[in-house]
Amino acid sequence: MGVPLLDLKAQYATQKDEINRAVLDVLESQHFILGPQVKLLEQAIGAYVGSPHAVGVSSGTDALLVALMAEGIGPGDEVITPPYSFFATAGCPVRLGARPVFVEIEAHSFNLDPRCLEAAITPRTKAIIPVHLYGQAADLAPILEIAARHGIPVIEDGAQAIGTEYQGRRVGSLGAYGCFSFFPSKNLGGAGDGGMIVTGDEELARRLEILRVHGAQPKYYHRVIGGNFRLDAIQAAVLNVKLQLLDDWTSRRQANAATYRRLLDEAGLVVDLRQLNPDTLDMSGLKGVTLPWERPGDRHIYNQFVLRVDRRDELRAFLTSRGIGNEVYYPVPFHMQDCFVDLGHKPGEFTVSEVAASQSIAIPIYPELNVDQQQEVVAALAEFMS
Ligand SMILES: *Cc1c(COP(=O)(O)O)cnc(C)c1O
Repeated sequence: MGVPLLDLKAQYATQKDEINRAVLDVLESQHFILGPQVKLLEQAIGAYVGSPHAVGVSSGTDALLVALMAEGIGPGDEVITPPYSFFATAGCPVRLGARPVFVEIEAHSFNLDPRCLEAAITPRTKAIIPVHLYGQAADLAPILEIAARHGIPVIEDGAQAIGTEYQGRRVGSLGAYGCFSFFPSKNLGGAGDGGMIVTGDEELARRLEILRVHGAQPKYYHRVIGGNFRLDAIQAAVLNVKLQLLDDWTSRRQANAATYRRLLDEAGLVVDLRQLNPDTLDMSGLKGVTLPWERPGDRHIYNQFVLRVDRRDELRAFLTSRGIGNEVYYPVPFHMQDCFVDLGHKPGEFTVSEVAASQSIAIPIYPELNVDQQQEVVAALAEFMS
């Protein structure tokens, strides 16, 4: 039968009339850039993540870029990121002329390893970007503590983590800036590109708003150089409707994750972690899968459900031949990307990231996925591994 990785049409069907009406209202208003719908969304997202200020921008990538610009980051500066994330996390600092400094991830969470952070800090370090990958919070307490001790701002990359909680607080509200993406495949996805920056600091919020419109304040008077990083009214209108169902979708994703845990366990496919090297969780030579780790007490929003497997690329081909959606986030760590050869890194420098990049695979977890479909996914995994 086949199972897609994501089924946006199923989601649209549940809110079709409301979304269509919201888009038509914007068309009737002919007010397309920023405006009341964007203001509403900014207030709603600020309230949702528990941050007093929110600034709508053109994408999650631009959210990171504008936050870095607000910190005045440029040539000669260093920005710390994990080597295992979506490209924008490292691409944005480089676009501003800064050098990305990679800090290894934890194998169990796929997120920046706080134990490796302090050694990477130099007098040139101007920002730290922890990523909340797959919807699970990075271990922010030690990261924020180290950053504060060195006076370095933390820019949270929450693109995959809207509503994720760390020790009872929503991510994005803990660092100096929280960056979110409304790319259609994120938990809260628009009808195109969009993003949001949240901050607890009013002055930073004003700076972000000015940078969003070419640095103009007032209009046509420029003390700084910004860009066109504005959010469209149509995106905001759609997102204002979709935000009402976000918590419901998140619960369904969490329920689907619980179902996968049960089904994979019943199929005898779950590897005992004690069999693995605890530093890398390397699955080489082993049958089965590792399940995603959840930090106790935190809220994982399951933007992705990511397994570790041996023979990952063969499994991908097999699943794809059965019509089962899957994806690899991400196959090449930053230190091994062609565009970063100038940084002078070598394979073997970040082995935890390299193992993750070669063994991780995401399977369908979207809210509308049903148990029959999950059984089909697990049956295909079992068949491949038998
Ligand atoms: C999606 C994503 C981004 C970029 O967001 P866009 O809206 O696609 O520009 C940045 N970081 C991470 C971790 C992401 O997953």
